[in-house]
Amino acid sequence: MVHICDLRFFLYAVDMALYQKIHCPECGNTDIMKAGFTAERKQRYRCRFTECDKSHFLLDYSYRAYLPGVKKQAVDMAINGSGIRDTARVLNISRTTILSALKKRKKSRSG
Ligand SMILES: [Zn+2]
Repeated sequence: MVHICDLRFFLYAVDMALYQKIHCPECGNTDIMKAGFTAERKQRYRCRFTECDKSHFLLDYSYRAYLPGVKKQAVDMAINGSGIRDTARVLNISRTTILSALKKRKKSRSG
């Protein structure tokens, strides 16, 4: 059960879970970090695999379209009292991923 007070953390966890699904379009590496924004305020990512030529990339249109819908669905589910397990199942995200992201978030207050 996601308490309403945890909604902010929960959304962050969903964010992180989706973030972990990102992979480099060049080498398929999932070890990706955010690398600031472009001039158009689009999130830019960097592949951390040093041998990879494609050091910076943007997500494709389909992925960007996918994100807001998933987040809205997560909010709706949390507000309606759906548990993490249900939410994870519907959003096709691992429950473990969400829970570990929640734990990480609660440990570090800086981020
Ligand atoms: Zn790469």
